[in-house]
Amino acid sequence: MLTIQVNNRQIPAEPGETILEALTRAGIKVPTLCHLEGLLPSGACRICVVEVEGQRTLVPSCSYPVAEGMKIRTHSPRAVRARKTIVELLLAGHPDDCLYCVRSGNCLLQTLAEELGVRQRRYTSQKSDLKPDTASPAVERDLSKCILCGKCVRVCEEVQGVSAIDFIGRGSATRVGTAFDEGINVSSCIFCGQCINVCPTGALREQSHLKEVVNAIKDPEMMVVVQHAPSVSVTLGEEFGLRPGTDVVGIMTAALRQLGFDRVFDTAFSADLTIMEEASELARRIKDGGPLPMMTSCSPGWIKFVEQFYPEMLENLSTCKSPQQMLGAVIKSFFAGREGVDPARIFSVSVMPCTAKKFEARRPEMSCNGVADIDAVLTTRELARLIRLRGLEISSLEPEAADTPFGERSTAGKLFGVSGGVMEAALRTAHYLLTGSELSELRFQALRGLAEVKEATVEIGGTALNVAAVSGLANARRVLDEIRAGERTLHFLEVMTCPGGCIAGGGQPIASDPEAVRARMQVLYNIDRDEPVRTSYNNASIRQLYEQFLERPLSEKSHRLLHTGYSRRKVLI
Ligand code: SF4
Ligand code: SF4
Repeated sequence: MLTIQVNNRQIPAEPGETILEALTRAGIKVPTLCHLEGLLPSGACRICVVEVEGQRTLVPSCSYPVAEGMKIRTHSPRAVRARKTIVELLLAGHPDDCLYCVRSGNCLLQTLAEELGVRQRRYTSQKSDLKPDTASPAVERDLSKCILCGKCVRVCEEVQGVSAIDFIGRGSATRVGTAFDEGINVSSCIFCGQCINVCPTGALREQSHLKEVVNAIKDPEMMVVVQHAPSVSVTLGEEFGLRPGTDVVGIMTAALRQLGFDRVFDTAFSADLTIMEEASELARRIKDGGPLPMMTSCSPGWIKFVEQFYPEMLENLSTCKSPQQMLGAVIKSFFAGREGVDPARIFSVSVMPCTAKKFEARRPEMSCNGVADIDAVLTTRELARLIRLRGLEISSLEPEAADTPFGERSTAGKLFGVSGGVMEAALRTAHYLLTGSELSELRFQALRGLAEVKEATVEIGGTALNVAAVSGLANARRVLDEIRAGERTLHFLEVMTCPGGCIAGGGQPIASDPEAVRARMQVLYNIDRDEPVRTSYNNASIRQLYEQFLERPLSEKSHRLLHTGYSRRKVLI
C-alpha cells in the first residue's frame, strides 16, 4: 500500500489506482459528472480536478494515478474556481426550466451549481433548439438538457452491449443520437433505462403513464387494480429517505389503497405462476431433448435484444409471458369472471422497477382477444411521485396486506427481484416436478450475489443440468456467443437485462450506488431465509388457481393466456 496526503490527512492508496478511487474509499467526496464506477474513466467533464503539489496544472482525479507521498488538495481555491467555471459554461446553453424538469431536486448539474455558489449568469450561449424525442414507449430524450457527459453512451455500449446511441455531429453541433439520428423508438434501444439512471440531468426520463393512471382512478366506471413487482418494495423507501434495503411492502400496499386503487396485488404471486409454467416447460424440454438451453423470458429488454441480435436463438426463449403479463392476463379473465366485471372496465396497472415493462405492456403479443393484459406501467420513481403528489406521509401509514387471491406469494416469487432468483426459484420447482420430492437445500449459493455470470451444475433426478444466471446484456452477449460457438453447453440460462437484476432496474431510484443495490439484494435473500413458504408449488393460491381455472401447467388455457412467441425484429442499428 502507498500513503498519500489529502487535505493534510494521510490516507492509504493502492498502487495503480486513481486518485478518485483512493478518495472515494476514504470517504472524501470530489464531484464528477461523467464518472461511472466499474468502467474505465473517460475524463470528459473535468469537474473532478484536484490540485497536486508539484504539478503545474490541475489534474483530473478520475484518471490520474496515485503515487507515494503525493500531496493533494481537493477543494483548493483554484480547484473550486475551475469547477465553478465548468458548471457556468455548461449552464450557459442550458434551458432555464428547472421548475418544469422531472429531475429538479435530483439533478447533479443543479446540485453542483448550488454547491459551487453559482448565482449569476456570467456566460451566455445559444440555447439548443433540439426537439424532445418522445415517441418511444419507454424512454424520452430532451437533448437540450444534455451536457455531453457520455455516460448514457458508455452504459449502452459497455454495460448493455447494445450501442443504440453514440455521439454524432461535430463541434458545437455534437449531440447524442441514434443511427441516422432517428427517434429512439425505431433504433436498437432495448428500453432498459440504464441510461436514464446514470444521466446527471433531465435529458433522459421514462415515458410517463401517470396521467393515464390518475384519470382511470378518477373514472367511477373503472375498476383500477394494481400489482407491484418483487423489487419495488425494497427500493421505494429510498425515495422517501429510508435506508437502502428497507422493505416497505405493507406501507406501500396501504399507500396504493389510499391513492385510490381498488385492488392491490403482488406480482410475486404471478412470479410463482411463471415458475409453475416455466419449470414445467423446462422439464418437458429436457424430456423431449430441447430446444436447449431454455432461456428465461421475464426481462423485456432481453427479449428485444434476442429478437434484434440473436434471432436464430428465439426458439430457446421460454414461451412464458413475464409475471407482469401473466397477472394482467389472469386479472382480465379469471378475476374479471369471479368479480362479475366486464374486462373492458378493468384498468390494470403495474408498478415496476423497469422502463422496458412499458414497452412490453404495449406489445401486440401481450393481449388476449384484443384486450391488453396491462393498461399502464409505473416505475418505482413514478409511484413515489404519485405518493408525494397526494401528500401521503409514508411514516404515518400502517402496513396492510395485499388483496386476495393474488396477494399470496412464496419467497421464490420474491427472488425474481435479483439476478439468479428466477433460476433458483425455477430449479426448486423443476426438481419437484421431475422427481416428486423437495430439494434438501433450497438455496443455490453459486447463483447468488452480484457477479456478472454465475454458474452451477445441478443434479435433478439423475440428470446433471448446467445452468447459468447472467445480468447486464454485454455479459449476455458474451455467453450467447460462447453457446453459438459451441464453447459453452447449458441446459438453462437466466438473463436479466439490468446489472444485478430488477433491484437495479432502469425505473428504480436514480443514481443507486453499489452498496444500495447490495442492501436491496440482501433483504430479498433475508425474506427467503425467514419465511415458511419458499417454493412456488406450495403457494396455496397458485394451487387454487389451477384447480379453479387453469387446470394444470401448460394446459390449453394456460397456453392461451400465459404463453406467447417472438419473432425477428428489424431495427435501425
Ligand atoms: S434504454 Fe438501454 S438500450 Fe436504450 S439507449 Fe438507454 S441504455 Fe441503451
Ligand atoms: S443524455 Fe445525459 S447521460 Fe447522456 S450524454 Fe447527455 S447528459 Fe450525459
